[in-house]
Amino acid sequence: MIKPRLFTAVFIALLALHGAAGRVAAEMPPPVDGVDWMAGTAIEGGIILGRAAPGQRLSLDGAPLALCDDGRFIIGFHRESDAPVRLTVTGPTGDSRTSSLAVTQRDYDIQRIDGLKRDHVTPPQEVLDRIGADSAAVRAARGMLDAGDQAGDFLTGFDMPVSGIVTGVYGSQRILNGEPRQPHYGIDIAAPAGTPVLAPAGGRVTLVRDLYFSGWTLLMTHGLGLNSAFLHLQSVDVTVGDEVPRGAVIGYVGSTGRSTGPHLDWRLDWQGRRLDAALVRTQLAGGN
Ligand SMILES: [Zn+2]
Repeated sequence: MIKPRLFTAVFIALLALHGAAGRVAAEMPPPVDGVDWMAGTAIEGGIILGRAAPGQRLSLDGAPLALCDDGRFIIGFHRESDAPVRLTVTGPTGDSRTSSLAVTQRDYDIQRIDGLKRDHVTPPQEVLDRIGADSAAVRAARGMLDAGDQAGDFLTGFDMPVSGIVTGVYGSQRILNGEPRQPHYGIDIAAPAGTPVLAPAGGRVTLVRDLYFSGWTLLMTHGLGLNSAFLHLQSVDVTVGDEVPRGAVIGYVGSTGRSTGPHLDWRLDWQGRRLDAALVRTQLAGGN
């Protein structure tokens, strides 16, 4: 097969661009009875796309995997995937087999950001309740999995939601005003305030809310457990429940929340695993 090599080559080029040459030897997963591996590799921040045979049921580390009507499914891999994942395939007759997928690990940059408001690095006591409510709202939105007619549209690839210079990459260890904080899970794309943000693939809106850290934030589910978040928006053009086709304007670039200038922070999440939007784009290819 030629495709996996192409994906790997594109990914190496991507890493070289960001000066983070990690161990990259991701290959397609080993053959699993009845499962057709279609794209991607088992690598931190990435996905693999597969198709199960009719009548098969799949589970990952014991949790059932969502399948399209045609049997397609994805598996996403978190930033730190030290242990292999276990994929169990159960056939129509109930016989099941478990295989183990090792996940290729990556090295990450360190990113220092200074000049942030002190309250945005170490929040004062009085906003902790708000931050807790924000997290609960995001968790609830990520649990809304029904993308309606737009489900699976992303399988043909993700477009860029805005064009601009990528100023922040996935996985960077963050030092904010000199203090170590959570890694960065999004990609940051610098663009002038007011630039329209376009849906990178079809989906259904699951959250529109002004969050303490990420400002005006929009979440959208794409189906198969995958969702996008768009942070620091100036304003939002859609409401919760809207089914949004690929390319529709969903909001406008801004600098709300913890931000040092207008940019879009775009994040992908699969079942609580934070993915690398730039990498997933190359794995699925096809997008613009
Ligand atoms: Zn960001």
